[in-house]
Amino acid sequence: MDWRTRLLSPANRSRRDYQSLATPVYRGSTVLFDNQSQVNDSWQQTENGYSYGLYGTPTTLELASRIAEFEDARHTFIVPGGQAAIALVYLAYCKAGSHALVPHSAYGPNKEMAEGLLRGLGIEVQAYDPLIGEDIAALIRHNTALIWCESPGSVTMEVQDVPTIVNAARNTGAAVAIDNTWSAGVMFDAFAHGVDVSMQALTKYVGGHSDLLLGSVSVRDDQAYAKFGPVYRQLGLAVSPDDCSLALRGLQTMAIRLDHVERSALKIAQWLSQQQTIETVLHPALPGSPGHDNWRRDFTGSSGVFSFIVKTGIPPHAVEKFINELSLFKIGLSWGGVNSLAVVYPDLERPGKDYGGRLVRLNIGLETTDDLISDLHTGLQEIQETHL
Ligand SMILES: *Cc1c(COP(=O)(O)O)cnc(C)c1O
Repeated sequence: MDWRTRLLSPANRSRRDYQSLATPVYRGSTVLFDNQSQVNDSWQQTENGYSYGLYGTPTTLELASRIAEFEDARHTFIVPGGQAAIALVYLAYCKAGSHALVPHSAYGPNKEMAEGLLRGLGIEVQAYDPLIGEDIAALIRHNTALIWCESPGSVTMEVQDVPTIVNAARNTGAAVAIDNTWSAGVMFDAFAHGVDVSMQALTKYVGGHSDLLLGSVSVRDDQAYAKFGPVYRQLGLAVSPDDCSLALRGLQTMAIRLDHVERSALKIAQWLSQQQTIETVLHPALPGSPGHDNWRRDFTGSSGVFSFIVKTGIPPHAVEKFINELSLFKIGLSWGGVNSLAVVYPDLERPGKDYGGRLVRLNIGLETTDDLISDLHTGLQEIQETHL
């Protein structure tokens, strides 16, 4: 055979029985079959064997099964990011004429999708107060297909009464989905609390190092599995096995990262709540934070993201200066990585609330807690001297 042909059909390949602690990165679009009768392109690779890279290589499915294992799910779909996970949940449950409910405190792009793409498809999404509790029953209509929960809510950190919402949805046509990113899928046991679908931005604590984007959609039962699979396939939500390999590495240290940021964030939140410049600290584990009682009842811990509001009278430019002058806290969106981040939300919209550029969200990373406190202290001291 010509050398050109031999490059493509080698006579010898390396042994395949290498055993490593790391999951190999399997790249591949085409999957080889032993004979024609085995050719299929089923998305149900767990049951039917590998068919096509789009539905995941062994690296992807390994990540999926690890997430499914710790969330206690029937199955987990790995998708390109948290936002793709949100889209998959909407499109699996809603069609033209459907109604869905989403809390005011949901992740911004979730609400943006509700107002944008979904409205154009004839799906009506109605926002509700995250602390609505049993009154959600009055909002459920004959065509309500989906109720979103996100707990705690993005930026304003309201912890929802999920069991009560699940109860209200029972025996209606509505499924309950939760964005469980803040708890990393571990500090709130979504399925034990009755939800149908739990999604996460793996970008955050599972990835853990601000260098990948992935999402997961975990389903409770066979019925949801059968509903989600075809939509996942039709949308072609392929992910990179390299990113999945990084996420698998992230899982190995997630427990100690979470333990550290929990302790550090709590200490910083408690310190902040004693500062004269601060009006409120929005941290689910602090008494007085919205939905704190729900957190105490339903969660096994807290993570490293929370917010605080400076006192009225402190002008937005002073808050902006404070953010700009922090040295350890970097300025940036997303969270869950090893670096601490701070960001102010100048035009955050929440009905009946005017934060007017006074709300700051922090992501606590792995720096030494006292150094982070010193960083904040310097900036708050300046605000106090100038504006109080
Ligand atoms: C970041 C985030 C998402 C979106 O995740 P991406 O991977 O960035 O698309 C969804 N929900 C919550 C709560 C998030 O914080």
